[in-house]
Amino acid sequence: STNSYSQKILITEEMQSQTPPPESEKVNAVILMLCRNWELESVLKSMRSLEDRFNRRYKYDWVFLNDVPFTEKFKEATSLMTDSVTKYALIPSEQWDRPDWIDNETFEAGLKEMNENGVLYGDSKSYRNMCRFNSGYFFRQQILDEYDYYFRVEPDVEYFCDFQYDPFRVMRDNGKKYGFVIALHEYEETIPTLWDTVMDFLEENPDLLAKENSKAFLTDMEEIGEFQMRLDLVNEYNLCHFWSNFEIGDLNFFRSEAYLKFFTYLEKTGNFYYERWGDAPVHSLAVALLLNSTDVHYFEDLGYFHAPFANCPSSNAVRLSKRCLCDYNDENVIDIQFHSCLPRWWRVGGKTFMKIKGELQH
Ligand code: GDP
Ligand code: MN
Repeated sequence: STNSYSQKILITEEMQSQTPPPESEKVNAVILMLCRNWELESVLKSMRSLEDRFNRRYKYDWVFLNDVPFTEKFKEATSLMTDSVTKYALIPSEQWDRPDWIDNETFEAGLKEMNENGVLYGDSKSYRNMCRFNSGYFFRQQILDEYDYYFRVEPDVEYFCDFQYDPFRVMRDNGKKYGFVIALHEYEETIPTLWDTVMDFLEENPDLLAKENSKAFLTDMEEIGEFQMRLDLVNEYNLCHFWSNFEIGDLNFFRSEAYLKFFTYLEKTGNFYYERWGDAPVHSLAVALLLNSTDVHYFEDLGYFHAPFANCPSSNAVRLSKRCLCDYNDENVIDIQFHSCLPRWWRVGGKTFMKIKGELQH
């Protein structure tokens, strides 16, 4: 049943109107940013871009999370950057800091080795806290309890196009649970045992593997299927993942028993610290295996930049009508470049057809 369907997402005239939608049509959703006080200027740049391109019309709340208290200066500037409600929360230490049971010697040895091997953030302790937090704890913050969907934003990102619709509605009205814009390969050295751990988890919990999962996105079995000699690679992870600095997701998926069980299993290994497991491959493996492929949405018409990669709509008509400020031929635009996993995603997710202003794009 893979690559046999295409998704149709309907963007109605009324969804595109410039007047604020009635309160009754608003989704129970929040824009979420984990960041540090010293990133203020970069935070404001991201806010400015998302407000101008999307949220100034929809007025979804912003929630800021930090492992230390936000300064008054941070709160003042960010609250003035939007007409929406802004909220600030401090992450509990036990959900951020390295747990006591992590063995210090093993931890330090891993840092040293990764640093020597030139792994990105290889020797960073705080980066590991951040990845573990984003993998297993962001959705447990009390301040998020009242929301169903989140839109993850990071400092210094840019949205190249007018949204012209509410992406939260696309999610809710189409029953989507995870939305992404960029898919690429992870650094293998950061996750040497992640795939095997996840496979062990599924062996112990076979009922949690979704029937219509996206395993074909994570493995290259179709390409090697004919070669008997290489069948041992069938279960090998191709390192493809959704880039999690942009996410629009259903918080209730992460709160689900299945995801909590999945995360707890990973957490117990200590490898968020001994290795350097990123929240992107962790989320991606969960999304691709515990959800059906139809639960995932590629927002291909949302131009986006987080260094060093960009997404820019391939259709000229889309770029013009959405007032995009991006060049599809720019070398940053990952799309179908060799290090992109998008073509692999199409194998399971199919192509998405956005029906805009009565015209079927593509
Ligand atoms: P990269 O995108 O992988 O290069 O990592 P970033 O430095 O952008 O970090 C990812 C997200 O976590 C960003 O939103 C950062 O602002 C945030 N972040 C990273 N480290 C910390 C930290 O130590 N404390 C807090 N509060 N936020 C952090
Ligand atoms: Mn970042």
